[in-house]
Amino acid sequence: MTDLNDLTRIRRELHRHPELSGQEQATAERIRSLLEACTPDRLVTRLGGAGLLAVFNGGSDGPTTLIRCELDALPIHERGDHEHRSAIPGCAHACGHDGHMSIILGLAQTLREQRPQQGRVVLLFQPAEEDGQGARRVFHDPRFAPYKPDFAFALHNVPGLPLGEVFTRPGSFNCASKGMIIRLTGKTSHAAHPEDGISPAPALARLMQTLPTLPRQFTESAWVTLVHARLGEKSFGTAPGEAVLMATLRSETNEVMSALSDRACTLAREAAAEAGLDVTFEWEDDFLASVNGQTGFDHVAEACLEIGVPFHRMPEGFRWSEDFGVFTQHAEGAMFGLGAGNVHPQLHNPDYDFPDALIPVGLDVFRTIIRRINGLSASG
Ligand SMILES: [Zn+2]
Ligand SMILES: [Zn+2]
Repeated sequence: MTDLNDLTRIRRELHRHPELSGQEQATAERIRSLLEACTPDRLVTRLGGAGLLAVFNGGSDGPTTLIRCELDALPIHERGDHEHRSAIPGCAHACGHDGHMSIILGLAQTLREQRPQQGRVVLLFQPAEEDGQGARRVFHDPRFAPYKPDFAFALHNVPGLPLGEVFTRPGSFNCASKGMIIRLTGKTSHAAHPEDGISPAPALARLMQTLPTLPRQFTESAWVTLVHARLGEKSFGTAPGEAVLMATLRSETNEVMSALSDRACTLAREAAAEAGLDVTFEWEDDFLASVNGQTGFDHVAEACLEIGVPFHRMPEGFRWSEDFGVFTQHAEGAMFGLGAGNVHPQLHNPDYDFPDALIPVGLDVFRTIIRRINGLSASG
């Protein structure tokens, strides 16, 4: 049996002890002992970092269904006066991953009593979602290979949408995004003789104007957002010799992301060549789009219908990114949004806190999806 009071208590305890991406050891340790109490058939730890995978086998052959949540918190100083506020200065569960973990722990408690009838269910506690690295690391960890899923599902709470209502769509659920760093190198010179150096200033200014207009070349939605720029140093005697420009590229599909990245590089190369500058590129925070399959979408929609959870088919996907797309690239499945309330602090706000009322809803939707795909034995 799942005890909702217990899951809320666990959620608040996780909230009090957040850890940053890639450093989730204590959280993983806490989860490990809670999972062990649910007697999974296998428990894989240190997966792709601090990740954990609890495997619940069915009585006969059938599909592997993966349900995923995230272990990490954010480098944000929590503002709030509730009792369970973060005990770690400068670190907070401001994305609700504490809530997502509690929901999946509730599933583990269900599976302790009711094993799947066929196939198996694997519950993944994924590290490092916020920096876009965790899903890939888990997926490429050789110890994950035996558990590659046929179906994969995940949820994310979404402030600004009605509490406890489900939102998803077939196709792109959220965007691909990528951090681009452009370094332009020329030659410094005395500020009295700028003509003897090569300043990246005009090329930088040009790129700041042209890069954000690139998405107009695409019929699908895309965005280029400048996030940082630097030219030379604070030195009035020196004409600058180098510049850095950073932008976040975003698109609905992985195909457009690859074309958008190519065109951004071409633009920078052209601007650099014209000014006689060298140019180099680096990429960070690389997220694939999360693309829902039709079958995965149907499972979520029909599960909601079955248990009476309000369901909405979204006309378009969310603009934010999530690294769950790594799993749905290889498995049939879907990610869905669970409304966190029309008036609720946004994700990554310092006063955000996961609404505990979502725990039973998320749990019910996942439990129903599992029953539809793998069957659940009678409680006993
Ligand atoms: Zn987040
Ligand atoms: Zn998140």
